[in-house]
Amino acid sequence: MENKFKFYNTLTRNIDTVIPNVEGKISMYTCGPTVYHFAHIGNLRSYIMEDVLEKSLRYVGYDVKRVMNITDVGHLSSDADTGEDKMLKGAKRENKTVMEIAQFYTDAFFSDCEKLNIKRPDVVEPATNCIPEFIHMVSVLLDKGYAYEAGGNVYFDTSKLEDYYVFSSAVEKEQLLEGVRADVDVDDNKKNSNDFVLWFTKSKFEDQALKWDSPWGVGYPGWHIECSCISMKHLGEYMDIHCGGVDNIFPHHTNEIAQSESFTGHKWCNHWFHVNHLNDQSGKMSKSKGDFLTVSLIESKGYNPLVYRMFCLQSHYRKPLVFSYEALDNMVAAYNKLAKKVAELKNEGEVDQEVFAQYRAKFEDALCNDLNTSMAITVLYDVVKADTNDATKLALINDFDYVLSLNLYEEGKKLSETPANAGVDAELEAFVLAKIEERAAAKKAKDFATADAIRDELLAKGVAIKDTREGVKWELV
Ligand SMILES: [Zn+2]
Repeated sequence: MENKFKFYNTLTRNIDTVIPNVEGKISMYTCGPTVYHFAHIGNLRSYIMEDVLEKSLRYVGYDVKRVMNITDVGHLSSDADTGEDKMLKGAKRENKTVMEIAQFYTDAFFSDCEKLNIKRPDVVEPATNCIPEFIHMVSVLLDKGYAYEAGGNVYFDTSKLEDYYVFSSAVEKEQLLEGVRADVDVDDNKKNSNDFVLWFTKSKFEDQALKWDSPWGVGYPGWHIECSCISMKHLGEYMDIHCGGVDNIFPHHTNEIAQSESFTGHKWCNHWFHVNHLNDQSGKMSKSKGDFLTVSLIESKGYNPLVYRMFCLQSHYRKPLVFSYEALDNMVAAYNKLAKKVAELKNEGEVDQEVFAQYRAKFEDALCNDLNTSMAITVLYDVVKADTNDATKLALINDFDYVLSLNLYEEGKKLSETPANAGVDAELEAFVLAKIEERAAAKKAKDFATADAIRDELLAKGVAIKDTREGVKWELV
């Protein structure tokens, strides 16, 4: 097949055509979540765009195998091996064991993915499943002279590489080194400031719950080694696409390349796909700041998670995306309007194959051009307006939804069911809406007694209210 899919490759700093190692097949790896807390919608932006990338590659005809790890051990709160152990922190916070925390947040992650129509990767592997593979890779790195033992831990020796900073320009390298020099939490065992831990036996976490025997003593793996081993276990030594968020570029992906290529002795992965941050108006969002934005939180505020998916698709994955509720409200309006229009289409007539092929080609072009999802959605709008029959439009919308996964037809059907309160007089409507607002304020203030009283008051007047994903609905009973 013809290779025409292009995206920005962080490694070459170019928009490269994807040329797979094996014709027609793509091996793809995604850095999975550290399962110590709910996923932030900013992290989920990356998973949404990676999902779109995978589906786009399949859409244009590739046979894709995608692997993702689940980090359930070894990830410290700084990606550079300093700070607290994230899993332990989660377990302490909730008074549970590390494995209970891992199971709970793994399930929560996939439940979020399901709500956002993110396909589950073909292989999902928790780090704790692969201890023998980690030990093997660390042993080989020691044998080859790329690693050393110090203070009980095993470290990767970054000075053994000609170019450790594969993703960075000269200026960026200088900034990274300065960052390391400014770090107050210095590990004296390291020979070079950017060396990183492959295997911990001695650390400040004496109460680390999960430990395994190893040639270097009882301990646990460093975070970066996971992705090198898990990807090779399932995809072999040559990989086509590796994805993650931009904050993974350094040190995580830099370290993954250092380990993997020192281990195999050859180039590992050709294409690197990175998704930019979701920011709030004040800058980068973090879990510690303000509202901790999760799928459940936006759902509890009445938003359909698929509106958030559309919000992400309307922006380019390489640009920072600014989140605000106003922006999300605008997206609700756009999504609902589009979904209702789609749901009004009647499956009548025969699909016009020529028109179908013409729009499909435009849609494909948008995806192949550095995953231009907002352009792909513009093509969808063009289809809705196009001068062709409904059957052709529906066939195209359905075809595009393999990639976009916005469920426009189904959601539009739900929205266009005639509301039971149509034709109610304006005075009653104004009264009900004011009461609904009052009740929302009471609920926000956690005054559930008042909220319930308002609901009962309305019911006494023959008005039933219902909380739905699209907000509060009401009808006469
Ligand atoms: Zn990774």
